[in-house]
Amino acid sequence: MFDALIIGGGAAGLSCALVLGSAKNKPFAKHKKVGIITHQKTSHLQTALFKNVLGLTPGTTGTSILKSGKEQLASLYPHVKQIEKEKVLEIFKSESGFLVKTNKENYIAKIVVIAVGYTNLFTIRGLGKYIEPHPKAAIEKDRIWLKNKDHLIEENLYVAGTLAGWRSQFAIASGSGAHVATDILTFWNSGKHTKVHDKLV
Ligand SMILES: Cc1cc2nc3c(=O)[nH]c(=O)nc-3n(C[C@H](O)[C@H](O)[C@H](O)COP(=O)(O)OP(=O)(O)OC[C@H]3O[C@@H](n4cnc5c(N)ncnc54)[C@H](O)[C@@H]3O)c2cc1C
Repeated sequence: MFDALIIGGGAAGLSCALVLGSAKNKPFAKHKKVGIITHQKTSHLQTALFKNVLGLTPGTTGTSILKSGKEQLASLYPHVKQIEKEKVLEIFKSESGFLVKTNKENYIAKIVVIAVGYTNLFTIRGLGKYIEPHPKAAIEKDRIWLKNKDHLIEENLYVAGTLAGWRSQFAIASGSGAHVATDILTFWNSGKHTKVHDKLV
């Protein structure tokens, strides 16, 4: 049973996992079980080259971010379980939370974050009722979003990144994942607004 399970190992999913992982010393997050299904095959980062992102050395490739993002998560926040080589096929609500079915396993999670990108190749059963044409992408591109209000699709079910209705820019997708993470932390902190900052001493 996960307290929070993130689906998708791209810009939004990895950013969400890093911020959730970084709250490990907060009393309200200490014992929470967080996981991420780090499927990366269809990430838009696979072919991206970055010159316009603050903090990234111009010329950074998306593939290097996919690799270093997982390494950063594993080395700094090893308590966040990375589930590799699995693709989510179905999500539905059960009495104990959301049942997430992959091509290999079944998982139960109290909170689920969907961060699988905005292509119309979306095939996760159980979420079809939330699919609509993307509100901020060119019509001819045939992009989709999962209808949400401030990233929340329904209670305990979040969407992050381009699939949440944001335009496709790395900083926006990453920010959306971080936004969802702080919403979850705030929820775990009984509604008290929460962020995680490291400081120089
Ligand atoms: C060629 C190209 C160049 C770009 N250049 C720039 C640029 O110069 N500057 C800029 O700011 N942005 C650029 N971008 C945009 C940027 O890469 C995207 O905005 C960003 O990657 C979107 O993040 P995301 O998390 O929404 O989706 P993605 O990064 O696509 O991540 C989605 C993840 O979900 C996984 N997934 C999909 N289906 C499933 C499933 N069923 N189960 C589990 N996991 C699943 C995928 O494998 C993937 O890892 C570029 C994009 C492309 C394609």
